[in-house]
Amino acid sequence: MIQKILIANRGEIALRIIRACREMGIKTLSVYSEADIQSLHVQLADEAICIGGPKSADSYLRADRIISAAEIADVDAIHPGYGFLSENAKFAEQCESCNIKFIGPKSKSIRMMGDKAVARDTVRKAGVITVPGSDGPIDNETEAVKTARKLGYPVIIKAVAGGGGRGLRIAHNDVSFAKEFHVARNEAEKAFGNGSVYIEKYIEKPRHIEFQILADSHGKVLHLGERDCSVQRRHQKLIEESPSPFLNADLRKKMGKAAVKAAEAAEYQNAGTIEFLVDAKGDYFFIEMNTRIQVEHPVTEEVTGIDLIKQQINVANGEKLGFDQGDIKFEKHAIECRINAEDPARNFTPSPGTISLYYAPGGHGVRVDSHAYSGYVIPPFYDSMIGKLICFGSTRKVALQRSYRALSEYLVRGIKTTIPLHKAIMSDPVFIEGKATTAYMEDFMSRTPTDLF
Ligand code: ADP
Repeated sequence: MIQKILIANRGEIALRIIRACREMGIKTLSVYSEADIQSLHVQLADEAICIGGPKSADSYLRADRIISAAEIADVDAIHPGYGFLSENAKFAEQCESCNIKFIGPKSKSIRMMGDKAVARDTVRKAGVITVPGSDGPIDNETEAVKTARKLGYPVIIKAVAGGGGRGLRIAHNDVSFAKEFHVARNEAEKAFGNGSVYIEKYIEKPRHIEFQILADSHGKVLHLGERDCSVQRRHQKLIEESPSPFLNADLRKKMGKAAVKAAEAAEYQNAGTIEFLVDAKGDYFFIEMNTRIQVEHPVTEEVTGIDLIKQQINVANGEKLGFDQGDIKFEKHAIECRINAEDPARNFTPSPGTISLYYAPGGHGVRVDSHAYSGYVIPPFYDSMIGKLICFGSTRKVALQRSYRALSEYLVRGIKTTIPLHKAIMSDPVFIEGKATTAYMEDFMSRTPTDLF
């Protein structure tokens, strides 16, 4: 049984894991960089070990130092959170070989789904529809142009090792394709150390709808419903909600079944997410699987009442999931706004620095997952998310009104944040009517005066 967990992460997700562990009577060890000494995850864990310099490459990405810390502190398991080493198959393997439980899927599943071309192939063979595209990676330009023409423009060029919205390039004709193909390959090589790319048909104005998966080590694979993450900027999510205002019961059932099939094909264990794009006609296409807990997991937790982090730990302990698909009830509507230290009026420039005053909203149906506090200095080295506001209620209307109310109470002084932007979106008729596609943000920004934020 797991008695002590090392949390190989920082920020709000590290706190989220500490909270679950406390409630389960499990001891926690935080690791931190020199830039995070004042962080709450260091202060709230039972123990903390500094693992290196401020840059991620010198600390949170140093598998060797994290494993050494785990051995020194005698932990039973490592929770990787999201980002950093969470989808690194080699790290999961190292944990496995050191007899430390990796709280996530087996390294084999991470490897299979981590290469997006292999993932497409795997789920397609299991009968799940993928976006029309190339059969595997394409490295030769002539062959790539031929494939693009056959698919019909526009197409999207994607890095097989891609993630976080990086390494995606759209091409509208042969000329732009030739240019974007090389840019994409170079970018992918730099960002992921792997220049391999594949091509997909670019779906116009789709919705991004993903299914939360939970699977145990005894072969049970369940889904916990969907999250609509169509509100994105530069392919990065800003707002997520569940249920999706677009899906009807029939489509939800079909997509849920397809998601379970995809996870089964990956021999999946633990929590993961199957991502789909859905076009205006309601046709859905698998795009990728994320083999870790996601930023937006609280939306599902509030709708279903299931604590995903505790479930992850139970599954890693070898326990059976204590419920079946039919037992999962979707009784609420939840909306999450990502609060980033960025200036939306200035092209979302990062706004690190000292938070002079911090006051988080509360009250009925409001959850804030954040590591921020008054006096906290946001280091410039990591991603800009400083918190998540999750508002929920019996209907979408209540969740929307509650989000607007909570955003109005949320005070973060001394830095710029996305709070005023979220307020503007919560009062925008297109979003209120549930009509947002992945093209929504570009349109919203073009018709909204920036002095509103
Ligand atoms: P990443 O792993 O970098 O997050 P994804 O494959 O998940 O990349 O895609 C991220 C986002 O890019 C999607 O949510 C969607 O907005 C857009 N996108 C990806 N593939 C397509 C496609 N074939 N057509 C249209 N948009 C796409």
